[in-house]
Amino acid sequence: MDSIREMDSSNSENATLNVGNNNGITISAALGSSSSPSSSSSSSRYENQKRRDWNTFGQYLKNHRPPLSLSRCSGAHVLEFLRYLDQFGKTKVHTPICPFYGHPNPPAPCPCPLRQAWGSLDALIGRLRAAFEENGGKPEANPFGARAVRLYLREVRDLQSKARGISYEKKKRKRPPTQQQQHQQFPTLPPPPGAS
Ligand SMILES: [Zn+2]
Repeated sequence: MDSIREMDSSNSENATLNVGNNNGITISAALGSSSSPSSSSSSSRYENQKRRDWNTFGQYLKNHRPPLSLSRCSGAHVLEFLRYLDQFGKTKVHTPICPFYGHPNPPAPCPCPLRQAWGSLDALIGRLRAAFEENGGKPEANPFGARAVRLYLREVRDLQSKARGISYEKKKRKRPPTQQQQHQQFPTLPPPPGAS
C-alpha cells in the first residue's frame, strides 16, 4: 500500500518545521530552494502555508513573555523567533571540530546539533513578509524585511553550506519544460474550520 506516497514522496525536499510539542503550535515550511516536482499546483499550497505560518507567528507573539504586539515587533524579535524554531530543527549542522564538518553524507552519527535548514527559514521569512503586508502592515515597517533578518539568513546559509558541504548558490530552481503533467495533483484544501 503506498497510497500516501504522493503526499510523502516530496518529504526529502519539503522540510517540515515542527513546533508542536510545547505549546501546540505547528509550523511547516516547504523548502523553497529545491525544485518542486509539482510547480503547477504550488500556488494554492503556498497560500495555505502562508496562512498557517502567519497564524503560528501570531501564536508565538501571544505566548511571548513579555507579551508582544505585532506593531511593536522588530527584526530582533523575528530573529528571536527563528532561533526559537531551531530547537525543532531536523537538519544536522556540523561544528568545525566535528570530523564530518563539510561532509554532505557523513558515514556515522555525531553529536552535532540539529537546526532548521536554511532553505526552510528563508522560505518561511518570505511567506511571513508577504503575509505581514497583506494583513495591513506597512512595507517600511515590515520586521521580516529588516536588514538584520537578511543578514542573519545569509549567515545561516554560509554556515550551513560550509558545515554540510552543500553549495546553495548553484541550486537555482530549474524549470523543466513544462509538459502537461496530470494537472492539479493536489486538491485545493478547504478553508480551515472557523474561517469566516
Ligand atoms: Zn558532526
